[in-house]
Amino acid sequence: MTALSFSEHLLDRINRWASVCPERIAVSSGGRNLTWGELVSQSNRLALWLDGELANTPGPVAVHGHKEPEMLVAFLAAVKSGRAYVPMDSSIPAARVAKIVEGAGAAMVLTPGRVAEVLSVVGPEENSESLRRVEGADPFYILFTSGSTGEPKGVVITLKNLTSFTDWLLGEHAFITSGETFLNQAPFSFDLSVMDVFGSLLTGGTLACVTKEELGNLKLLYQRLAESGVTCWVSTPSFAQMCMIEKGFRSEMLPCLRRFLFCGETLAPETASQLLERFPAVEVWNTYGPTEATVATTSVRIDRAVLEKYSPLPVGYPMSGTQVLAVDEQGAAVAEGERGEILIAGPNVSPGYLGRPDLNAKVFTEYAGKAAYRTGDWGRCREGLVFFEGRMDGQIKMNGYRIELGDMEANLRALPEIADAVVLAVEKHGKVDSLAAFVVLAEALQGSEFEVAARLKSRLGERVPVYMVPRKFHFLEAFPMTANGKADRRALASRLG
Ligand code: AMP
Repeated sequence: MTALSFSEHLLDRINRWASVCPERIAVSSGGRNLTWGELVSQSNRLALWLDGELANTPGPVAVHGHKEPEMLVAFLAAVKSGRAYVPMDSSIPAARVAKIVEGAGAAMVLTPGRVAEVLSVVGPEENSESLRRVEGADPFYILFTSGSTGEPKGVVITLKNLTSFTDWLLGEHAFITSGETFLNQAPFSFDLSVMDVFGSLLTGGTLACVTKEELGNLKLLYQRLAESGVTCWVSTPSFAQMCMIEKGFRSEMLPCLRRFLFCGETLAPETASQLLERFPAVEVWNTYGPTEATVATTSVRIDRAVLEKYSPLPVGYPMSGTQVLAVDEQGAAVAEGERGEILIAGPNVSPGYLGRPDLNAKVFTEYAGKAAYRTGDWGRCREGLVFFEGRMDGQIKMNGYRIELGDMEANLRALPEIADAVVLAVEKHGKVDSLAAFVVLAEALQGSEFEVAARLKSRLGERVPVYMVPRKFHFLEAFPMTANGKADRRALASRLG
C-alpha cells in the first residue's frame, strides 16, 4: 500500500502510478483492459500530439464516446496539454453534440476511434514535461447538463475545484486505500462518474466500467459485476435498486466489496436497509451535491442507527472548508432546522456556466467571502446534517439523470408539428418513473394518436438523449389555463391518474 500525498499537482499524483504499478489494470471496460503503464504513456503521447495540432487554436477538447478506455486517455491528454475536456456520452444525439461543441467553443472533437488512430501513428513518448498543463484556476473539465431553455449549459470545473473535491473524498474518507477497484456505472458526461474516475486514478486503482450493452442485458450485467472484483461501488441509488431485482445480488456476488457510495438522487431508507441486509459487512454512504459544486459536498454513513433515527435520510455533513446552509430568498441563513434553499459556499464551487453571464448572475454568488452556488434545492440543516427536501423548480431526477422539464418542452416546441407543450414527471413509489408530454398540435392529427406519438418520439430522439424522451403523449386542443394565463400544470397533472 502506498501513502497518498495531497500536496502535489493532481496530474503528478496520477502519473506516479505508472512507475509504482505499470502492469496493474487502470481501466477495464467492454472486455478491454488498459494498464497503468499504457494509460500514462498513451495520454502523454496524445497530449504532445494535441499540443502540436492545436498550437494556435484556443478552446477545450470535446470527447465523444462511451466507456472505451480511449476516453480516459483523451481526458488526461487534454489536461496534460493545458486544455479542459468536455465529455459527451454516445447516448447524446448528433444535433445536441453539435450544440455542445459550439457552446464549448471546442478546438477539436476526439472519438475513441480517432484516439486509437492517432496513437498508432505518433512516435514514442518524449519530452511531455515541456507541455503547459492545466493549473489551479484553469478549467479542468466542462460538463454540460440539461438547461431549462432547451440549450445544454456547460458547468466549468477548475483544477482547484476538482482537487478540493478529491482531497476531501480521499482525505476525510481515508478508508479508500490504493489499488482498489471502483465501479463506474454513470456515463462520463455525468459528474457522478468523476467520483469513481478520479477516486481510482488518484489511488492507482482499477476502474471497472459497466457498459450500456451490459446495462441492457441483466444476465451480462450480473456476470460483469461478479467478475469485476469491485471494492468501491459508486452509483445512483436507482442502479443499486435495479440490481436488487436479482436475489443473488448480495455479498456472495461481490465478495470484495467494502462500501457503497451513492450520490445524485434520494437514497430511500428501504434501499439502504435492504443493502445492509444483503451486504452485512459493507458500508453504505449517502453523498449529495450538484455538478456546479463538483460532484458531492456532503456525506454520511448510513448504518442501522441512522436508519432508525431518520426518515427521510440525511444527505450528510458538509466537507471541511465548505459551508452548506439553508438560506431565504435574500440569501440570508435561516435558523437551525428551518426550511430554505440549500446554498453551498467553498473552493469546490464552479466559477460558473460557460458563456452564460445571465444564468451565472442568478445562481452563482458569494457567501462569507467564498464563491457560492444557490442549488435550487429545498432543504434544512440540523445537528450538523443537511436534509434534502426536493426541488424549487422544474428540474427532476429520473434514474439518476438530471433533466429540466423546460428542456424537453423547448425541444418539443421546436418541432414544426407542435404548437405548444407541457412536460410533467410521472411518479411511482415516490420516485420519478417517466415523463408525460401534453401537446397541442399545430395541425390536426395525421394518423392515430399512437402513430403520431411514435413519430414525435423518433423526432425527439434526434434532438435529445433517449432517456429524456417522454413515454406518454396526451393530445389536447388547448391547455387549461391558470388565472394569470399560464398553462395550468396542476390541472394537467390531475389527468395523469
Ligand atoms: P447533478 O448535477 O446531476 O449531480 O444533480 C444535482 C442534483 O441532484 C442536486 O441539486 C439534488 O437536487 C439532487 N441530488 C444530488 N444528490 C442527492 C442526494 N444524495 N439526495 C437527494 N438528491 C440529490
